[in-house]
Amino acid sequence: MAFPDEVRNGYQKTLEEIRQAGIFKVERLIHSAQAADIEVEFPAGTAPQKVINMCANNYLGLSSHPEVVKAAHAGLDSRGYGMSSVRFICGTQDIHKELEHRVTEFLGTEDTILFPSCMDANCGVFEAVLTDQDVMISDRLVHASIIDGVRLCKAERDIYEHADMAQLESKLQLHTRKRLKMVITDGVFSMDGDTAPLDKLAALCEKYGAMLFVDDSHATGFIGRTGRGTHEQYGVMGKVDVITTTFGKALGGASGGCVSGRRELVEMCRQKARPYLFSNTMAPMVVAGVLRALELLSQDTARRDKLEKNAAYWRQGMTDAGFVLKAGDTPIVPVMLFNAKLSQDFSRDLFTEGIYAIGFFYPVVAKGAARIRTQISAGHELHHLDRALDAFKKVGRKYGILGQTKDEIIARYGA
Ligand SMILES: *Cc1c(COP(=O)(O)O)cnc(C)c1O
Repeated sequence: MAFPDEVRNGYQKTLEEIRQAGIFKVERLIHSAQAADIEVEFPAGTAPQKVINMCANNYLGLSSHPEVVKAAHAGLDSRGYGMSSVRFICGTQDIHKELEHRVTEFLGTEDTILFPSCMDANCGVFEAVLTDQDVMISDRLVHASIIDGVRLCKAERDIYEHADMAQLESKLQLHTRKRLKMVITDGVFSMDGDTAPLDKLAALCEKYGAMLFVDDSHATGFIGRTGRGTHEQYGVMGKVDVITTTFGKALGGASGGCVSGRRELVEMCRQKARPYLFSNTMAPMVVAGVLRALELLSQDTARRDKLEKNAAYWRQGMTDAGFVLKAGDTPIVPVMLFNAKLSQDFSRDLFTEGIYAIGFFYPVVAKGAARIRTQISAGHELHHLDRALDAFKKVGRKYGILGQTKDEIIARYGA
């Protein structure tokens, strides 16, 4: 074995540079189940503190929902702990097929294939279905896992500026000689909380004979009138050719993902997608938990309705308090602070006030666009949101940013 000094020193130098830049990531230990109320150890080594979680992807409050936990227990008892196999050798149980059918039904597609995660789905799908005769045209801001998937595939790559339909159209006109054009977008963009205009995207794809690919990880379960996703919201169910999504967010938040869409495309993934062929099956108890989560969502729309109400209440309260928010109508509500250090100081002070919300800054978001990204959940009750509002107002007053415009905040703190 060898760990050459030169390499060790190089790593140390890089790590120090990351620290100096103020972007060194540290994990905060949670000593409780994932929920609206959690116990967090921060700073490390101190006693865990009870705080309200305002930054989980637990949109529907299902991460520790008793029904989901119970179903996972039952799955563990009846189908065991693990499969010790990939799907095509001896890693497919009846419940894996059942989940694929239920997801197909829920999303209104033709067929579905499970993956260990949505990251894996996005890393597997493009290579499996596209060739060097094809072109992928993606929104500038798509998720990192799509960017990685695109890199693994031989098709030509092109990009349109975020949600710029005119530019996308000109790109579609440019690539007329390709066998296949695939337009790729997130349904909901996680940093800004805005949605892709899927009605316009579907119309353009139809006009130019392109396939439409949507990663709906931040939408499945709650966007749209019955929570089917962004395609339901924009009235284009059945018109999106490929949907990828995760079970690691709204649908119980454990793990797993899928590719759902055109039958032959899904079958191509089953034959060729490498994360499907070479990585282990979703654990049986997780499959059982996701099945129960989908069942709960199919019974009624109470949870997504409550989430919608909570998000509107939060947006209104924060707007009235005088914060600058990113406009939108999803449960992702970015509170704009613009300055990176301010976002970190603000987050730390919120924690002292019993509110857990993380500050994001460059390179996760654009330079000068630092923010605290709040994420609302159906697991929040009004008393959680009111307490969070009070804390945000208190900290906002401390920094003198309530009622201040973007320009005023930047003039004071820099961008
Ligand atoms: C979270 C997320 C993923 C990754 O999902 P995992 O199942 O956790 O791998 C992929 N795409 C988007 C848009 C996401 O937000």
